[in-house]
Formats: sequence, C-alpha cells, structure tokens
Amino acid sequence: MSDAAKPGRGGGIADGDADRGVVLRDEGSQLIVDIAGEEVPCVVRKTLRRKTGKRRKAVAVGDRVTIERSGEGAAIMAVDPRGTSLSRPDPSQPRREQILVANLDTVLIVASAKRPDLVPNLIDRFLVAAESRGIDVGIAINKIDLDEARDYGPYADYYRALGYTVLEVSAVDERGLEDVRAFLAGHTTSLLGHSGVGKSSLANALDPSLRLRIGAVQEQSGKGTHTTTTVSLLRLPWGGYLVDTPGIREFGLWRMELVDVALWFREMAERADSCRFNDCLHEAEPQCAVRAAVEAGDITAWRYESYRAILQSLRRDARPDY
Ligand code: GDP
Ligand code: ZN
Repeated sequence: MSDAAKPGRGGGIADGDADRGVVLRDEGSQLIVDIAGEEVPCVVRKTLRRKTGKRRKAVAVGDRVTIERSGEGAAIMAVDPRGTSLSRPDPSQPRREQILVANLDTVLIVASAKRPDLVPNLIDRFLVAAESRGIDVGIAINKIDLDEARDYGPYADYYRALGYTVLEVSAVDERGLEDVRAFLAGHTTSLLGHSGVGKSSLANALDPSLRLRIGAVQEQSGKGTHTTTTVSLLRLPWGGYLVDTPGIREFGLWRMELVDVALWFREMAERADSCRFNDCLHEAEPQCAVRAAVEAGDITAWRYESYRAILQSLRRDARPDY
C-alpha cells in the first residue's frame, strides 16, 4: 500500500482524522464517500490524480478509499487495489478503459414467476455474463405470490442442482426477503433482470431507503444515446451496497469466444472434455458428449436451447455497439 494510504499524514493531522470508506457517487467536482453511514463529499488529492494520469479517473464508484478531513473539507488520499470491475471502453477514447463500478463482486439475477413469466434463457444469459467475469451470482425468483402452484419449481430445482443459490421471494407479501438481505450482506451487488420483474419493488421492500432508478429509467435505453450511463451505489443498512444504474448494457456477452460459452453452463462444461473435437460447439459435430447428454435427458432441453440461443446472438452481435 502506498504512503498515502497510511493515516495521519500531511499537515500534522492526527491519525484519527483519516477514515476509510466506499465511493457511492461521482458528482463531477466531488465524489461522495460512505464513511460508516455518513455521506462525505470529497475531492481527489492532486498527487493521486497525477499518478493515474490526467485523462483517466483516478477514483471510480465502488472504490475502497482512505480519506482525510481538514478545515476545507475532505480529500481522497488513497485507493485500495480493485477487485472485479465492470468497465467499458471510454466512449470518447475507445482505447482507454472506463470503470463503471469497481469491486462489483455479486450479481443477483431477478426473474419473476409470473407477469412476466419466467424466461430461463434470460437467466442463463446473465449467468454466463456474470460468471465469465468472475462475479458471484445468485437467482431471485420474485412474484411467487402470483404462482402458488409453483410452476417455476422445476427451474428453481434445476438451478439449485447446478449449485446456484435460488431465492424464492415476493416483494408484495414479503416472503423470502430475509434470505435476500442475507445474500446481499457484505457484498456489492447488481440486480440484473428485465424490466417489470420487480427489481425496484424488491429493493424497496428490502428497505424503503433503497429507491432504485433501475425500473424508472429503463425505458430510455435503446434510444441510441449510451454515453450517459451513470452508476452509483446505495448503502445497505445491514452492510454492503446495491448498484443503482439505469441499465448496465455493458453487461453483455459480445467479447466472448463461441467456444467458451459452454464453460459457463456447468452441466455442459463437465461433459465437454469427452467430445471428440476439442473445439466442439456442441451443435452438429459428431460424437458430441453434450448433445448425447441432452438426448439422454441428462441435460434439460431448455438449458441447451439457451446455450444455442447465446451462440446465435454472439454470431449476430459479433461487433460491439460503440
Ligand atoms: P422493475 O422494472 O424490475 O424495477 O420492476 P418493478 O419493481 O417496477 O415492478 C413491476 C411491476 O410488478 C409493478 O407493477 C409491481 O407492483 C409488480 N411487482 C413487483 N414485485 C411484485 C411481487 O412480488 N408480486 C406481485 N404480485 N407484483 C409485483
Ligand atoms: Zn460437443
């Protein structure tokens, strides 16, 4: 860790004046840092900016930072090394990396049991997107109050058998909310799921202070302007953070090699070694162990359909959209 990270440096300020926290928002001239529940506006110390270069932001939302307070306000003195970051090419300078959110360690995929019906293909896309980035993932099936017959049950069971955490919840009658709180505790989590599945309702039911912009603004995506995505974090009262964003389109799959997709379908990955060809895509190749397992019913048809659909969309969207 750099000298700057050591508390109590600069201007003879006592050790106790240095605080550690997490960057919640970037408001342009200052960053808002969560210091144990207090929102502290901070500037970035000049030497820190010099170190990372003028054109790149020295500090990103999600960064763990050390700040120092003085009479004039507070300054970020040091940034911890980052864990997994969600980034994209800087829209104004594509060779440069722009970090949307640092230290994103968990994704909670939100689906709904009914209205809209559960679409496993969408869950699988998000699973692949998260896991291929090394981000932990869980699945929340919301609106279980609309499906007392538990039509979604076979899906929940299948994902559980693969080793995923599946939470069955209702933002309306509040079933399962304790499980969601426990899942989120201590992590920085992004809720991923399509419009209308209940992400905002769920956040609000977890704690009324969590007013997500997700649901409200999502309709605006797809209008062609995509440089304005701002990401911020909401502090969870029980520990951890929720990513609040009007839609992270960067959470796509376009960088992925076709042959790598099956790695993130757990039940396929373990069989792919037995395929005749090393680069088998498990489509029409002879002696394919994955297809044999599908035909034998050991891999469910809907997962295989998801897999095929992802391959198709990667072929279609081979080029990035920015
Ligand atoms: P978002 O787009 O994912 O943020 O979804 P919203 O939170 O805006 O919810 C979409 C719609 O589903 C709203 O009309 C909610 O009232 C409704 N909704 C959300 N959660 C539940 C639930 O658990 N049960 C039922 N019955 N409706 C829900
Ligand atoms: Zn194969």
